[in-house]
Amino acid sequence: MSTINRMETLLEDPGLDTAMRDIALKVYNEERITEEEGLLLFERGELGYLGTLANHIREKKHGDRTYFNRNFHIEPTNVCLYTCTFCSYSRLIKKREEGWEYSLEDIMDIVRKYDDQPVTEVHIVGGVLPQYDIEFYSELFSKIRAHRPELHVKALTPVEFHYIFKKGKVTYEEGMKMMKEAGLQSIPGGGAEIFHPEIRDQIAGGKCSGEQWLQIHEIWHNLGCRSNATMLYGHIEQFHHRIHHLEQLRQLQDRTGGFQTFIPLKFRNKDNQMSHVPESTTIEDLRNYAISRIYLDNFDHLKAYWPMIGRHTTQLLLAFGVDDIDGTIDDTTKIYSMAGSEEQNPAMSTRELVNLIRNVGREPIERDTLYGVIKNFKDHQFEEDQQFKGYVSLPVVKN
Ligand code: SF4
Repeated sequence: MSTINRMETLLEDPGLDTAMRDIALKVYNEERITEEEGLLLFERGELGYLGTLANHIREKKHGDRTYFNRNFHIEPTNVCLYTCTFCSYSRLIKKREEGWEYSLEDIMDIVRKYDDQPVTEVHIVGGVLPQYDIEFYSELFSKIRAHRPELHVKALTPVEFHYIFKKGKVTYEEGMKMMKEAGLQSIPGGGAEIFHPEIRDQIAGGKCSGEQWLQIHEIWHNLGCRSNATMLYGHIEQFHHRIHHLEQLRQLQDRTGGFQTFIPLKFRNKDNQMSHVPESTTIEDLRNYAISRIYLDNFDHLKAYWPMIGRHTTQLLLAFGVDDIDGTIDDTTKIYSMAGSEEQNPAMSTRELVNLIRNVGREPIERDTLYGVIKNFKDHQFEEDQQFKGYVSLPVVKN
């Protein structure tokens, strides 16, 4: 059944209550839902209903197309001045010997390791420390661009920007211009956590506020550049905090159109100060992704970050609004594995990633950072798959 038929069947369902029918009708007619309606979806939206709506939007925007990219991550340090309570990754300065602190040359060595690999993006984020300042990052970005001009540099979040600009005594506008001139091309979505101060002050006190996070992205967009957005969900926040967060993003996107993709990030509770907080269930994860897809009508893409949520949930999410599953990654990020994520050694080859998408009936598209199509893998035959001759037929035992 096509997604339009599924929506029509849902709308004809006599058992559907009036409020849910009104929301479904809005989605069908491509109208925006209100904050109250978003909250209602979190409180009462049943999984199948949410999936139908989110999948309808996903298929209208992208059909079966499912994007991935080939990237690698560099985390310059896991030592951090801040003490976010959900963070399993960072080491306090007083225990810095337990962590790592790469020099500029260490980082360039990692970049050079990928010289013969068909990667299109380097993703750089990490802890906040005084030696990683404006000069350090400016030099790093220009060195990477000079070394490999076609490699897209996606790096840092407003958490780092806020710190380095304050330390360097420059305004956000001046600082973001300096980053752009040095070679930074886009910024990832991290550091957003939950914008609402009632929650942010408890889990991420001391680092940039929600308003500052949004301000830095807005300045970046006004420079003609693109970025992503995230939301850390499933800890001590309530549904209305999630709606507040999504609403701030939706309003900023109305003003600039600079966000490419939204990435919900599931809170994990291993080895952090919030280990007593239970993690969300898979059902709640699916609901959260679906509602994000429905609410953020002005975002083109919804991404599931597979190392954090796991391969199987990622496949399920392709029917709950998700059209992007990030990249091949190659075991270079520790941020989520240290927090107890599904993937302890996150690495997937292009073939594995393509098959993960194809196995649920979607069409794998390799993209660059700005969603330019590099290759459609729909009918691509991998050598390893050609060698696979099928399962051995076992003799049938007859009585
Ligand atoms: S989440 Fe980021 S800013 Fe917060 S402690 Fe961890 S590394 Fe530092």
